[in-house]
Amino acid sequence: MKIVLILLITFGSSVTIADGQFGVFDFQVRRFVYEAKLQGVKVNTQRLRIEFMPGLPHRWLAACFNMGSYYPYIGVDRYVWERSGSLRKEYTIFHEMGHCILNRNHDTRLKDGYHPISIMYPDDRVIDNSQYYLEYRAEYMHELFHPNK
Ligand SMILES: [Zn+2]
Repeated sequence: MKIVLILLITFGSSVTIADGQFGVFDFQVRRFVYEAKLQGVKVNTQRLRIEFMPGLPHRWLAACFNMGSYYPYIGVDRYVWERSGSLRKEYTIFHEMGHCILNRNHDTRLKDGYHPISIMYPDDRVIDNSQYYLEYRAEYMHELFHPNK
């Protein structure tokens, strides 16, 4: 009950995501919209669909289909999702929403020869080191919503 109240207060009237609209992905989608708002960016998730999808290529966590289309669709590997912690879940949804909602492509640039500058790096190296990710999370959020700035 407490968690529900916190979500209502935090996201309140500014976001029009129906309760449970994204099922088990609700928290991450709301978090994405919230981070966008903090970055001063309006995002539209009204037509987004996210579902578990069997048969993704080996080792894929998730994929965005219909990138840039009217009906963005994200498929997530159930096996990996159910064995992932909160950080990997956040990363997975944020990366795919980066494609599907922000129309972003992959970004392979590294900042110090190893660490990606962007959540849009093509594999999950961004969260290889959770401590590093958490330390630079604010930078990653800024970059996600304001690439090239
Ligand atoms: Zn990708």
